[in-house]
Amino acid sequence: MAEVHRRGALTGFAGLVGVAVLTSCGRSVESESFETSATSARSTNRARTVLDAQGVPTQLRAAVSRDVEKAASIVTSLWGDQSPWPSAGAHVRAFADHDAFVAAGGDRNARSVTATTTEDGTVLISPSLLESPSAARVFVLSHEFTHVRLGVRSAAARWVAEGAAELTAWHASGLSFAQYAPTFVRRVRAGDRPHGPPSDAQLDSDAADVQRAYQHACAYSDFLLTRTDPVGYRRFVVSAVAGGRPVDDLFDATFAATQRALSASFAEHLAKLASGRR
Ligand SMILES: [Zn+2]
Repeated sequence: MAEVHRRGALTGFAGLVGVAVLTSCGRSVESESFETSATSARSTNRARTVLDAQGVPTQLRAAVSRDVEKAASIVTSLWGDQSPWPSAGAHVRAFADHDAFVAAGGDRNARSVTATTTEDGTVLISPSLLESPSAARVFVLSHEFTHVRLGVRSAAARWVAEGAAELTAWHASGLSFAQYAPTFVRRVRAGDRPHGPPSDAQLDSDAADVQRAYQHACAYSDFLLTRTDPVGYRRFVVSAVAGGRPVDDLFDATFAATQRALSASFAEHLAKLASGRR
């Protein structure tokens, strides 16, 4: 039995790249049939990653390999490539077969949860993510690799790691916030402006509006970035995820305010994101 960390998936994104990314990770589930993956003759080694893609056609395998490496480059250039990023390269397994994906620890609902990061930091790619556009693959893999880099287990509230993962993927995507998060932006324009980050319950993969909760976490993380600088924001995230000091203390020390004190400023930031001014 091994606990796995899930995230996922895609449905039609209205943005420039013509794909949509729906997130639903963070919930730990148990898999009875997780097996240690062996590097096979079908594995591809690149600078930062090792891709194992048995049964995947050669041309698709090459495209996925490029996307895997691109996403790893996005993450390590922002967050560094030190531990827990694996020194031998992050391990990715891509599955052409749904049953094999599920047997390895992937979600049964692979249409909506298209990638999984296991407890040992292996990223599992479902058949539906394999078939998605390259930009969607890079987005999802950038999100997952952020978890690999920060450590799959987080001591902080979920929004810290999920927001950091979404922010990393969104900033690298080149999409406007409205293109990335049309659902969330519609609600903000309608006057629904949350005062702080989303709760753990809102970010649960079984929550009714989990996609919007991930977009919300991304927006809050983008807001925090504007309250300090990239170095300060990254230091906060790394320390919060690692644990050892209360997150509220870290938050106050980094942003010189409590979350409550920043609620009006966050509302202003949301208005900027929704109007395209940020
Ligand atoms: Zn995640």
